[in-house]
Amino acid sequence: MRRYVLALILVSILLAFYSEAAVIRRGGASKLISLTFDDGPTFGVTDKILNILKREKIKATFFVIGRKIEKNNLIIKRMADEGHEIGNHTYYHSRLTEINDKKFLAELRRTSDLIISHANEVDNLFRPPHGHLPAKKQKLIAKEKYRTVLWTVSADDYLRQKKGMRTADSIANRVVAQTRRGSIILMHDNSREIVAALPQMIKRLKAKGYKFATVSELMRVKTSRAGCYQVNAKTKKI
Ligand SMILES: [Zn+2]
Repeated sequence: MRRYVLALILVSILLAFYSEAAVIRRGGASKLISLTFDDGPTFGVTDKILNILKREKIKATFFVIGRKIEKNNLIIKRMADEGHEIGNHTYYHSRLTEINDKKFLAELRRTSDLIISHANEVDNLFRPPHGHLPAKKQKLIAKEKYRTVLWTVSADDYLRQKKGMRTADSIANRVVAQTRRGSIILMHDNSREIVAALPQMIKRLKAKGYKFATVSELMRVKTSRAGCYQVNAKTKKI
């Protein structure tokens, strides 16, 4: 009986490792890091972020919402023209825990088609809204040939609505303090605070010797599974 239980535990661990291996959370041991922006494109925010990235000669990865592309298709073309990577963040920003497989696949494909129609190609990267990733959906994502990308550092810029919680300075301080080699940094290009925080954040990260790359470029460097991000980690004000 004891042997049977041990075997069962071993199999569970192996299965967990196998399914986790398909999820990208961070890069390798070099000083290469990735800036990623979710929930756009947003007129008046994404274009300003693109201006900053152009000035700083940085290529980033944007996880776009299909519904928002319909209104901002020129920004998608600009992202592609300027060498940024464009990933899929569903059409309606649906929680994967709340929609069935059929609806999820429809959202994934509709968004992908929209990206292709404006950028001519699609980078097969997917980021689940709210970081929710049920195992069953993860298999589906892999079957559709997408690589799932999570993150190691959250700018927590989306908490701006809570009075006084997020300012440009606090966002930059938090990101700079938490960034390590291979970090994938989560931000949102629907937040004006991130536009204000970005220049000083980049300046301080460059001063620490970090270099910037898209997620795909980051993954070409040797990968590491250490330091996984906790989806439900408590938010700390830094
Ligand atoms: Zn999102």
